[in-house]
Amino acid sequence: MKLLGVVGDPIAHSLSPELFDYLFKALSLSCRYDPYRITPNGLAEFVQTSRMGGLLGFNVTIPHKERIVPLLDEIADGAERLGAVNTVVNRDGHLIGHNTDLGGFLAPLRERAVDLADEHAVVLGAGGAARAVVHGLSSLDVAQVTLANRTLDRAEALAQVLKSDANVDACALGDPTLPEALSTAGLLVNATSVGMQPHDGVSPLGASDALHGDLIVYDLVYRPLRTKLLAQAESQGATAIDGLEMLIGQAVASLQLWLPDAPSVSTSLKADLRGYLRHKLLDETRVAD
Ligand code: NAP
Repeated sequence: MKLLGVVGDPIAHSLSPELFDYLFKALSLSCRYDPYRITPNGLAEFVQTSRMGGLLGFNVTIPHKERIVPLLDEIADGAERLGAVNTVVNRDGHLIGHNTDLGGFLAPLRERAVDLADEHAVVLGAGGAARAVVHGLSSLDVAQVTLANRTLDRAEALAQVLKSDANVDACALGDPTLPEALSTAGLLVNATSVGMQPHDGVSPLGASDALHGDLIVYDLVYRPLRTKLLAQAESQGATAIDGLEMLIGQAVASLQLWLPDAPSVSTSLKADLRGYLRHKLLDETRVAD
């Protein structure tokens, strides 16, 4: 039995244990995946225990993605560039940090063969997820990225850091230039937590930020699955992508890092997994109602 898990705080609502259990069963893998609620003060001890103990690897979530970096023995290229780790692989006590959020973000765009070369993208947010998104977009040769964030200073600081990778400008959410940027954009990504439970029913867009049918609207929030932003997108004929697709994409990439010889996750298995998790999330919404 191979032991895996996820470390974070809080962790009770993580979908990852159910997601991986589904994959382990479908792929006949003898593995177990447990949630570990660890506070920032307990992180160093957890890392040390997992190094010596039986964990083959683990995922890392809020609030530890950045603070775990100096505790590991090696950081893979992608994670180094992002300054954040969401997957740790234990190779006989040598802990290697990776970041599969970037690949997870790109997976649904690649699956739809979306061509964003020379397009303008608008990214809402300036936290860890926004950083991974802009890195991902630079690999798709997007011509220009507008970063819009509630706290303008954070958007400007992130734009400064990312300017060697992409053409990035920054503004505040609600900035009068945002509607114009959206009107010419091919992609809008919500990388803020606006719209997430328990504050669902709220959109990160302002009243004058109009969507249009040529836009792809990608919301990283997956609780609820159908956010207010995605409902707005669909009502304007835009293509909607929900956060569950990224969650599955990053999890599949983590599994490949832990178990490179495991059978690959086929498109149809991904679709089944998505259906299974979708029902769980929709049931949750019904219970909350
Ligand atoms: P983070 O580093 O804490 O950043 C949060 C972002 O949300 C910041 O830009 C923050 O703006 C903004 N924000 C928070 N409350 C706001 C409000 N009331 N009004 C306007 N902006 C607000 O978090 P993160 O790790 O980047 O995650 C961001 C979102 O992506 C979360 O919802 C997370 O669940 C989701 N996510 C999904 C996946 C997936 O697999 N689907 C993966 C990673 C993240 P300020 O800078 O002004 O505070």
